[in-house]
Amino acid sequence: MRIDIVTIFPRMFDPFLAEGIIARGVKQGVLDVRVWNLRDFASDRHRSTDDEAYGGGPGMVMLAEPVLRAVDAIREGEGSPHIVLTSPQGRVFDQRVARELAATGWIVILCGRYEGFDHRVHEALDPDEISIGDFVVSGGELPAMVIADAVGRMIEGVVGNAGSVEEDSFFRGLLDYPHYTRPEELRGMRVPEVLLSGHHENIRRWRKEQSLRRTLEKRPDLLERADLDEEAKQILRQLENEKRTR
Ligand code: SAH
Repeated sequence: MRIDIVTIFPRMFDPFLAEGIIARGVKQGVLDVRVWNLRDFASDRHRSTDDEAYGGGPGMVMLAEPVLRAVDAIREGEGSPHIVLTSPQGRVFDQRVARELAATGWIVILCGRYEGFDHRVHEALDPDEISIGDFVVSGGELPAMVIADAVGRMIEGVVGNAGSVEEDSFFRGLLDYPHYTRPEELRGMRVPEVLLSGHHENIRRWRKEQSLRRTLEKRPDLLERADLDEEAKQILRQLENEKRTR
């Protein structure tokens, strides 16, 4: 998986790329993350990447030309990456979108600042506009890290234990079950007995039920779109009955 990031603050990505799961993916060669300094594509002496807005008003606007040049340089002779433009006006990012992006094999993420990009960036590139949620942050760098992390961990070999990705919240459209580690008893709170039993089938079933129970309690909206097998549907009916009789 290749991920190119275009930003005026490339150093913000140093710590992100130096530690943790994504750093390991890069070291192992399954992730190829390249950070580009937008200023290197500016055309004036001052290396400007923004200017005042036509029509007036507060706030600067990111120049289109440096962004288009950066994308040209990234694409040069190498094919057609999927262009992602970070924006609070985009479709809202979730696990499904992450999977979609992972499947493209190559994404370029454009990080805005100030009021965002000159609209002609949209006209020229027709990018996949992506928002990380209904709030505004000051730049596209944090959203780019969120996207790169969620997409990167889906690539085979990035997360040490592939099973742990498959059991993450949202992987099958459900929330994750609760986790426990040592000690068995902490300030009077005991680890659920079934987890200490060594009975794999009971543990599997308990976790599945917990996952469904949590989703039903915290995010019932997810159940409508979740991909449930027969066992899950049966557990869910049971939980709903329980709720009704309580
Ligand atoms: N005036 C713009 C917001 C600009 S915020 C508007 O209201 O649409 C500056 C930059 O931060 C954006 O260009 C984008 O790259 C990034 N950004 C801010 N909030 C974001 C969000 N929720 N999701 C993704 N990117 C965001």
